[in-house]
Amino acid sequence: MSLAADARRTTAHAAFWMMTRRVTILAASVDIVFFVFFLWAGSPLLAWLNVLSVGLYGAANRLLVWRWNRSALLLIWLEVIGHAVIGSLCVGWDAGFNYYLLMFIPAIMVSGDWPRVAAPLAMLFAIYLGLHAVSNQLGPLVPIDDTALALLNVFNVSIFFAMASYTARFYYLLVRRTEGRLREHATRDTLTQLFNRRHLLEIAEGELARARRDDTSLSLVIVDIDHFKQINDELGHDVGDRVLVHVSGLFQACCRASDTVARWGGEEFLFLLPNTDIEAALDFARRVRVAVARHPLVPKAPTEVACTVSLGVASLAPGETLEAAIVRADRALYESKMAGRNRVTPAPAAAPEVPLGEDLAC
Ligand code: GH3
Ligand code: MG
Ligand code: MG
Repeated sequence: MSLAADARRTTAHAAFWMMTRRVTILAASVDIVFFVFFLWAGSPLLAWLNVLSVGLYGAANRLLVWRWNRSALLLIWLEVIGHAVIGSLCVGWDAGFNYYLLMFIPAIMVSGDWPRVAAPLAMLFAIYLGLHAVSNQLGPLVPIDDTALALLNVFNVSIFFAMASYTARFYYLLVRRTEGRLREHATRDTLTQLFNRRHLLEIAEGELARARRDDTSLSLVIVDIDHFKQINDELGHDVGDRVLVHVSGLFQACCRASDTVARWGGEEFLFLLPNTDIEAALDFARRVRVAVARHPLVPKAPTEVACTVSLGVASLAPGETLEAAIVRADRALYESKMAGRNRVTPAPAAAPEVPLGEDLAC
């Protein structure tokens, strides 16, 4: 099984057992109501049977806390089937105790793959149909008056609605939460929490299309930490990681709401600056350089880890692809490194746009 499938299974399993625990509490509360109801309806035997049910749910809840999940599930099956059978046979099918059996359908279906769920589902189906036939054949063994029967039916239907809605909602929220987590994992760098390279490229394509449509400028700034290998070698990889997190925070602080910064690779970062021409992008890059130079990481006073960054800046030329502009910004970054680091360099001008067909001329 792949890691992703394994993680999905773990989340679904944990959620399943958490929901089962909540259901035991809910079901025990319902049985307390039944106890009072049957005392009022003049059926003390049925009333005391519900006390037994509360005990079974209490025991199942404890077993779930101790993670004896299979034993807990067995007790819950025993209680629900016993309750549905005794209720339907004593008071009649119209009382609606059969609805509780239906609650097992979603529980079975989310408990595993098809071969695992087929047998319990078939068994439940057989119990349901069998109980229907037998209770209709025998009629109520301990009849209660019509008003009490109608009330009981409404109560059981209401509880079934509440439990079915709760279960469906629980799984809906679980899917939403899992989706959100997966999206975070797919778009963010785990160390710095900045967007990753793939997500920045996705955003960049959208920004490029917008810049072309609105005829506005779009600029890129590539940043690389200077002599970062030295920081790792001298102070350890752990301090290196903390420097990456620290400068990421500084980068985010420099951004406007419309700017995006991502971890481009190792100790390289890329800013995407919509509505920013080359001059404004150079000013921005200089602010970033100064921010990093002026704010060393202070892991443990009085030691501090100072670092600097080199930057390359490019503004997208008309008709230029994103990749081409990134290559130009990268070249400018290389120039910054060659010129001694801790500096900002504008990219060389983009190659002029060749009108369609002109490049074919001899
Ligand atoms: P330059 O000024 O020319 O950029 O030199 P540099 O030492 O920064 O560049 P070099 O490419 O030689 O080294 C980059 C180092 O960054 C090497 C790599 O181990 C380290 N690195 C990459 N990713 C991580 C990371 O996630 N954490 C840590 N601690 N180090 C990383
Ligand atoms: Mg570097
Ligand atoms: Mg590098």
